[in-house]
Amino acid sequence: MPSARRVRRALAAAAAPAPFADARVIGLPRALMAYRLGAKWRAFFEELGREVRVSEPSDRGVFERGQALSVDECCLASKLFLGHVDALAGEVDAVFVPSLSGSDALHTYCTKFQALPDLVRSAFALAGREVRVLDALLAEGGAEKDERASYVELAARLGATRREGERAWRAACRAQRDRDASLARAQAELVAASSRLPRAERPLAILVAAHPYVAHDPFVAGPVTDALRAAGATVLFADEFDHARATRRSHDFSATLPWIVNRELVGAVLELHDAVDGIVLVSAFPCGPDSMTDDAIALCVKGRPVLTLTVDAQSGTAGVETRVESFVDILTYQRRGGYLNG
Ligand code: SF4
Repeated sequence: MPSARRVRRALAAAAAPAPFADARVIGLPRALMAYRLGAKWRAFFEELGREVRVSEPSDRGVFERGQALSVDECCLASKLFLGHVDALAGEVDAVFVPSLSGSDALHTYCTKFQALPDLVRSAFALAGREVRVLDALLAEGGAEKDERASYVELAARLGATRREGERAWRAACRAQRDRDASLARAQAELVAASSRLPRAERPLAILVAAHPYVAHDPFVAGPVTDALRAAGATVLFADEFDHARATRRSHDFSATLPWIVNRELVGAVLELHDAVDGIVLVSAFPCGPDSMTDDAIALCVKGRPVLTLTVDAQSGTAGVETRVESFVDILTYQRRGGYLNG
C-alpha cells in the first residue's frame, strides 16, 4: 500500500505539465550567464538526454541581430543575448532562457537576469517573430535545497521524473565545479610560475575585472585582451578565481553589495591585488551594477594603477587599443622605477 505522501507526489507529477517533453535539441545562447554557468546547464540537459547547441561566438552580425530586436536603453550584453537567441531560434526545438533569482535582496543578480524570459518574449513579439523559450526560475546562489528544487522543476517540464531531475542536477553541479576549479587552478599556476621569475624578466601581469560575458566575449572585451597580449602582458581574469573565497573576501569591500557576480569580481580583485601590476575594469555600456561597483573599486584600490573601460558597440577598436597601449606604457615605466627614473 503506497503512503499518502507517495500518492500525493505521484498525483502532482501526473498533473504537472511537461510542455517541453518533445524538445530534443536545446539552444544555449553564448551570452550573459552562460559564460559563468554554461558547463552546469549543458551537463544538466545532456544528463536528461538532450542535445545542446551553443550559438557561435559573438560578432558584429550577432550584435546587429540583437540590436534590431532591442530597445536602445538595453546594455550591450543583453543586446548580444537577444542576437544569440535569434541565431538559435530556427535551429533548435527550444532556446533556454533562465531567470536567476538569488536568495534575498543582498544576494541577487542584475535585474536583466531576472527578467530575461520576459525580455526575450516581448522583444520577439514586438518584432512579430516567434521563438520557443524554455524558461525556468533558477534559485542560483540561494540555499542548496531551493536550487535543487528549481532544477528538478525544470527537469519535470522536460518530462523527467524527480529522481532523474535530481541526478541531472548533481551531474550539472559536478561539471560546473570541475570547470571552475580547473580555471582557478590554471590561473593560480600562471601566477605562481610568474612569481618564480626574476622581477626584471617577469611579463607585466594585468588583471581584467569584468563580468564573464564581458571579459570572454570576443566582441565585447576581445579587443581589450588582444591589445594587452599584443603588448606582451600576461592577462589574468577576476572571474577565474575561487568564487567562494572571492565572495568571502568581498565583505572587506562592502557588507551590502547586492550583486553576486560583482561580489565575486571585487573579492578576486582584492585577493589578486598584490600579484598584478595593474587592473583593467571593463564594463558593457550602460551597466547599472558596474557603474556603481567600478567607481568604488577605482577609489578603493591603492598602489595599483586602474584603467576603466566602458565598451559600446564601437565600429572600430583603435580607441581601445590606444588606451590599453598607454596603460601598458605607464606600468612599464612604473616597473622601472617611475617616470623620473625610467
Ligand atoms: S550586470 Fe550590467 S552588463 Fe550585465 S546584464 Fe546587467 S546591466 Fe547588463
